[in-house]
Amino acid sequence: MSDYVISPPPVVSVPVAGGGLFPVRRVFCVGRNYAAHAREMGSDPDRELPFFFCKPADALVINGADMPYPPMSKDLHHEMELVVAIGTGGANIAEADALGHVWGYAAGLDMTRRDLQNAAKKEGKPWDMGKGFDRSAPIGMMIRAADLADPTKGLIELKVNGAVRQTSDLSLLIWSVAETIAYLSKLVTLAPGDLIYTGTPEGVAAVQRGDVLEGVVAGVGTIRTKIV
Ligand code: MN
Repeated sequence: MSDYVISPPPVVSVPVAGGGLFPVRRVFCVGRNYAAHAREMGSDPDRELPFFFCKPADALVINGADMPYPPMSKDLHHEMELVVAIGTGGANIAEADALGHVWGYAAGLDMTRRDLQNAAKKEGKPWDMGKGFDRSAPIGMMIRAADLADPTKGLIELKVNGAVRQTSDLSLLIWSVAETIAYLSKLVTLAPGDLIYTGTPEGVAAVQRGDVLEGVVAGVGTIRTKIV
């Protein structure tokens, strides 16, 4: 018999293409990591160090499931992103070694209650309730790192109801995957199971109930969800 006084939460996991499940520990997200998106949000991208916020692991919406429109918001936005999955942890990881810590990649959506995030920004308050709410992180099937030839370039695109809303290229990331891992590992000790949502390109906008979101990261995979 276990000594737990309530049932422990289930392990959240992401299905891997070809079989298996990637168990998730923490979900880190990079803010403003494409210059054109930083500008559309009113920031100067040129001299900013990367910064991070988190979502709970159980905010993930796995592989094509519906996403319920969240409460307390009238401005739910999509942010299409490349997601990096850490297989080997560490602190102070050198940029040259960083990609060796990656187990896999996936396409994901950093769904955002923009009205709550903007109110928090204005008041200098935390972003958690704008970003880390229930089911705020749809994620597609994961591929192994060995199956992505080059994580530094390739199309990233999101369609809503068939119309292109966001389109860019991974080469336009301000902080590359390797740089992001190196920098984040100075702030926290990364661990196997950690995910990093690497930031979204320009074109973020509101979605409504009934909208179908279909994203792709070239060479990585797709993400699909319907807002219900
Ligand atoms: Mn984002």
